[in-house]
Amino acid sequence: MTDGLGKLKLFTAGDIIEAHLLQAFLRSQGVDAVIKNESLQTGLGELPFVESWPEVWLIQARDWDKAHQLLAGFISGETIGEWSCPVCGERNPDTFELCWVCAKVPTDEAYEFRA
Ligand SMILES: [Zn+2]
Repeated sequence: MTDGLGKLKLFTAGDIIEAHLLQAFLRSQGVDAVIKNESLQTGLGELPFVESWPEVWLIQARDWDKAHQLLAGFISGETIGEWSCPVCGERNPDTFELCWVCAKVPTDEAYEFRA
């Protein structure tokens, strides 16, 4: 009925940053994912095609239902808050345990100070 590999495309992102955010978010929730068409984004201008949007694919079929629930939350922007990476300054959703850019763990100082 299916080869089992053609059904795991979770999401087509609008740009590579969105794809990386989603991938990092999924990984932070225990769902492993890969990004396809990532390298094509570097050659803008050379590519006449618009079919090269980055795509987020699941690795494990068993993650499908969970990933879709996470995706729904990701798209609707249901993030609780965000923290700024102490190393590169990138802003990360609270749900990220690591900086999605440099993979550093946030320190306490990265969070908003609560008096
Ligand atoms: Zn960082």
